Amino acid sequence: MRQAPVAPSVWWQNRRDARKKHMSKTIHAKIVIIGSGPAGYTAAIYAARAMLDPVMIQGIQPGGQLTVTTDVENYPGFADVVQGPWLMEQMEKQAAHVGTRLVSDHVSSVDLARRPFRLVCESGDIYIAGSLVIATGAQARWLDLSSEQTFRGYGVSACATCDGFFYKGKEVLVIGGGNTAVEEALFLTNFASKVTVVHRRDAFRAERILQERLFRNPKIKVVWNSVLADVRGSENPRKVVGAAIRNLKTGAVTEIPADGIFIAIGHAPATELFAGQVDMKPNGYIRTAPYSTATSVPGVFAAGDVADDVYRQAVTAAGMGCMAALEAERFLAAQHVDSAAAE
Ligand code: NAP
Repeated sequence: MRQAPVAPSVWWQNRRDARKKHMSKTIHAKIVIIGSGPAGYTAAIYAARAMLDPVMIQGIQPGGQLTVTTDVENYPGFADVVQGPWLMEQMEKQAAHVGTRLVSDHVSSVDLARRPFRLVCESGDIYIAGSLVIATGAQARWLDLSSEQTFRGYGVSACATCDGFFYKGKEVLVIGGGNTAVEEALFLTNFASKVTVVHRRDAFRAERILQERLFRNPKIKVVWNSVLADVRGSENPRKVVGAAIRNLKTGAVTEIPADGIFIAIGHAPATELFAGQVDMKPNGYIRTAPYSTATSVPGVFAAGDVADDVYRQAVTAAGMGCMAALEAERFLAAQHVDSAAAE
């Protein structure tokens, strides 16, 4: 059975402890893949089968966003609903089975100015890579209210799958109107007595099938044209007690009692590590060439949510991972031909 994801703070502490005992080493690889979601694993499977001996640095949350999802109904190949963590476990096993070297570490800096590329990990290990696939995915976005910050972990969450269990028989709010918000609201009805979805427009962005499920669920109420203005909470113990909700049409502010607030307003690409080194779009996603995963740096490819601000699906991420591996393979082969010609 899969272990529950480790809280990031615990992960960092474990890593720091491990680092004290660790003799850092330098590892050379033809291809390094950063990130272990569907894009990363698919790139690894293709690269391994192309005999490139890929190294995958898995990051803090191996398996990525799907490890904090429950039902997956739209990944082709499964007639029955499958669980996100299970699906990722299969991808990991498949990547390992074909020969990927999986490394539980976190990349802390990269130097893409010259080839081979140089990556330094949190453990102190250094990777020298002939090519690189960036598949670092995306992370949940926050509203950036100061009260949201104050109560994060004390009733404000961005992951219903992780925290929903704590709201048995309680009332919760979900902020957002996309697939994540609707799925989280539906999931939370397994525990909560009442789920109120607060959405800034008068229509959801989520898929119709999910919307229909939501509208049929008697535990869910929707507050349209409204935003979270403030999290109301108490100290000693620190906890959420409600929310101030502002109607964008009338400006009226309503107080809603709640024990938990789930922020589900989309995701932001995890690209900080590459800032200033590869071209990015104004919204922070890595820019790739049309119909390609090639970035502005030859030999560096980007796949999945880190580069895709349009589709953002597990299956499209997997497809991009495949493209990245094939493009990296061609790139490395061309390098080999060039250096052979120079000799
Ligand atoms: P999303 O589709 O971008 O939706 C974000 C939602 O949050 C939108 O409804 C948006 O409102 C709202 N929002 C954004 N900023 C806000 C703000 N500052 N204040 C209030 N509301 C705000 O993000 P997502 O739901 O996380 O989904 C991300 C991607 O993953 C999507 O492509 C989605 O289809 C995919 N996904 C798929 C599944 C599935 O297939 N089962 C499950 C989860 C996610 P507006 O609508 O007004 O813009």
